[in-house]
This record gives sequence, structure tokens and C-alpha cells, in this order.
Amino acid sequence: PSAGKASLEVHGVGRRFAGLVALENVSFTVRPGLVTGLIGPNGAGKSTMINAISGVVPPSSGRVLLNGTDTAKIAPHKVPMRGLGRTFQNIRLFRNLSVLENVTVAADSVAQSGEDSRALAMAALNVVDLQDLAERPANSLPYGAQRRLEIARALALRPSFLLLDEPAAGMNPAETDALIAVLQKIRSDFGIGLLVVEHDLKLIMRLCDHIVVLNKGEMIAEGTPEEIRNNATVIEAYIGK
Ligand code: ADP
Ligand code: MG
Repeated sequence: PSAGKASLEVHGVGRRFAGLVALENVSFTVRPGLVTGLIGPNGAGKSTMINAISGVVPPSSGRVLLNGTDTAKIAPHKVPMRGLGRTFQNIRLFRNLSVLENVTVAADSVAQSGEDSRALAMAALNVVDLQDLAERPANSLPYGAQRRLEIARALALRPSFLLLDEPAAGMNPAETDALIAVLQKIRSDFGIGLLVVEHDLKLIMRLCDHIVVLNKGEMIAEGTPEEIRNNATVIEAYIGK
């Protein structure tokens, strides 16, 4: 997929779990080549939104359009091939495979005939600065590097959009800085549109071009980091409960 022309639009998405309203009428756009932050207090519906966008947990109402196609109508395992990659809140790696093998498995699933999926995987490892650790078992990497390996695996699918659920969770400041550098490179060098869920508001404010704020399933604000920082409703949602 060509990242520059790709589109990802969330239209009036709602999601219920039995009686509980996890999301209610949320609309926003994830733009190619920009980082959109998705923030909000615990239980706000952020992970549910990532799952709704990627088609894992389809919306109860509204829809998500990926290049004009409703993601709920695409088989979940085919969504990555349509240009929508993601990582999960908890690390999901093949622990005993090498770093390179982890990424090659992903590259294999999209490689055209004649393409060398090991070379594609190596290129993805270069982006996240793991090329020197390619032969190490995945589970021997420090935590921050394992999280970058997950991003390399998603990148090897050559996405137009990447959804990252709490990529900096559990990272120390040095690991967080390395992650920010990688995400900035992905945005500017590949034109990929990123949607980043994150608790670390300092990271969000440094990294994002645009921020969407959820609270109790509803979108209470969106805007630039500057606008969100000064938004009274957002401040209230975070500290005034
Ligand atoms: P966040 O990621 O913002 O912390 P979540 O999207 O995980 O929030 O959850 C939003 C709300 O939906 C919470 O009240 C949570 O308990 C509920 N929820 C999420 N997934 C499920 C599920 N599969 N079944 C029932 N309730 C769920
Ligand atoms: Mg979550």
C-alpha cells in the first residue's frame, strides 16, 4: 500500500460490552505521515478503540474506514495485509526464535515472489536500530529492545498505518528516548500514519502532531499538544475526579 494516499477514518464508533458503554460516538482521522496520540484515564476506552480500528473487536455502532473499506468487514488476519499494522499492550514475540527470525516470519507473509524476506526483515531491524542484535534470541534482549522488535515486526508488513498500544510502558528514560527517535524516523522516512496510545504524557506531548482525548468512552477533546495541554476539560478528566 502507498502510505501517502492511504486513509484511516473513525466514524461515530461505539462499543458496548453487555451493559457497559466502552466507546460512544467517537470520530477522528489518523493522517499519513503524522503521529496521532490517543490518551485518557484508565478505562477510557483506548485499547477498545485500537481493537475496533484493527477489526479485532468490531464496533457496535459506527465504522472504521481503511482506504474506504469498513475494517469490520475484513477478516482480522487479513487486516495487516491491507496496510494496517499494530502492536499489543503486552509483548507478543516468538521468545525462542532469533530477532531476525521474528521479523522474517512477518516479512514472509507480505513478500512478493522474488523478494528476499530476510533482506526485508533486516531493513526493518535497521529502522529500529536492532541490526547488530539480529542473531540473538528474542528473549535475551533488554525490555526496551524487545518492544522495538515488536515495532520492526509490524514494519516488515509495510503498513500505511501503525497502531501502538502503550509502546513505552515499563521503559526507562533512555529506552523511551530511543523509542521516540524510532517513531519519528518511521513518521518522516516512511510517511506512515501512527496512532499511539500512551500513559506517558511527556512522550505524547513531545511526539504527537495531533492528540485525541477519551474519557469514559467519549471523545472530550482533540487538538495540537499545545491545545490539549491547556484544555480545562482534559485537565479536569485527569486530575479532577
Ligand atoms: P483503556 O485502554 O483506556 O484503559 P479499555 O479500552 O481497556 O480502556 O476498557 C474500556 C472499558 O471497557 C473498561 O471499563 C473495560 O473494563 C471495558 N472492557 C474492555 N474490554 C472488555 C471486554 N472484552 N469485555 C468486557 N468489558 C471490557
Ligand atoms: Mg489499555
